[in-house]
Amino acid sequence: MKERILVTGGAGFLGSYLCRCLLDQGKQVVCVDNLYTGTKRNILPLLENPDFTFLQHDVVEPLDLEVNAIYNLACPASPVHYQKDHVQTVRTCVNGAYNMLELAKKNNCKILQASTSEVYGDPAVHPQVEEYWGNVNPVGIRSCYDEGKRCAETLFNAYHLQYGLPIKLIRIFNTYGPGMHPQDGRVVSNFIMQALQNQNITIYGNGTQTRSFCYRDDLVDGMMRMMATDAAVTGPFNLGNPGEFTMLELAELTIELTNSKSKIVFQPLPSDDPKQRKPNTDKAQKHLGWRAKTPLREGLAKTIEYFDSLLRSGEAL
Ligand code: NAD
Ligand code: UDP
Repeated sequence: MKERILVTGGAGFLGSYLCRCLLDQGKQVVCVDNLYTGTKRNILPLLENPDFTFLQHDVVEPLDLEVNAIYNLACPASPVHYQKDHVQTVRTCVNGAYNMLELAKKNNCKILQASTSEVYGDPAVHPQVEEYWGNVNPVGIRSCYDEGKRCAETLFNAYHLQYGLPIKLIRIFNTYGPGMHPQDGRVVSNFIMQALQNQNITIYGNGTQTRSFCYRDDLVDGMMRMMATDAAVTGPFNLGNPGEFTMLELAELTIELTNSKSKIVFQPLPSDDPKQRKPNTDKAQKHLGWRAKTPLREGLAKTIEYFDSLLRSGEAL
């Protein structure tokens, strides 16, 4: 009997690639998504596979299925999108986690939560280690996501403490790659789309803030290694690429790789925008034998190719 794996948020950027990898490993996959930021385009090739099922469903509502493991990725990840409906974002993070934990308890199965580097907020400890409790504004414009994800971690931990549920917490640092939505609104897709169309590249603030960018394939490999660990391994583990770049450096590299005529323009920095971010990944290396392999230049080139093909085929609008 094939293992049946539930992926919530499976029509999104990371979820759709995860579904593909699981099918490649011979699993059956149930993809649950309300298509809030995800798109059918991401899963079109998978729909032909008899081992793949798509269920349009909002994780805020309970779900009853028989599954052998759950990856909980449902949640808009781009600030632009998670700030469109703050209340829905909190409900997706918290009620969604609750519903999926109840389902895992019923099925007595492993459940992985796609948590985030945002649990560290605007971090005072650099690079970020898992022991750092973070510096998060509970009442700012990013709070629905940051605090929602923190509460989800708390709920996961509560199910582990109270019911012995085999939980897996990973904290994902800025991940990019093919499959991102052209209107996603995050920095990598914005810069590439702007550069390919010779439009102004919009840097928020003075561009000295840093992020560490992880390529999609590396990240999903780490995620699957985490799921494969024994029940005793719960995390949280940071998953990310420790290479750290300013937004100015990212803009310049994108212009170089696209041969673009774009000019850099500076726009106001949104409030609570973290000034620096870089993962310490020692724990993932030790427990999962994992580290990010793809340099930014290489991953960015592949992502540029993807967006370029969307623009050429008219699918990017
Ligand atoms: P994404 O926006 O492309 O994918 C999220 C998916 O969740 C979309 O398909 C969306 O339609 C779906 N969704 C949203 N709310 C839902 C709901 N209530 N019910 C059902 N489906 C819902 O984002 P992504 O980059 O693929 O992120 C996937 C997960 O990883 C998210 O939980 C995100 O918080 C987490 N994460 C991602 C990053 C990153 O850099 N990509 C970093 C940290 C954490
Ligand atoms: N950013 C930017 N221009 C853009 C989009 C984002 O300069 O067009 C900046 C943003 O202010 C932040 C960084 O890039 O400092 C990363 O933003 P993103 O939304 O990708 O992710 P997050 O802030 O959640 O890490």
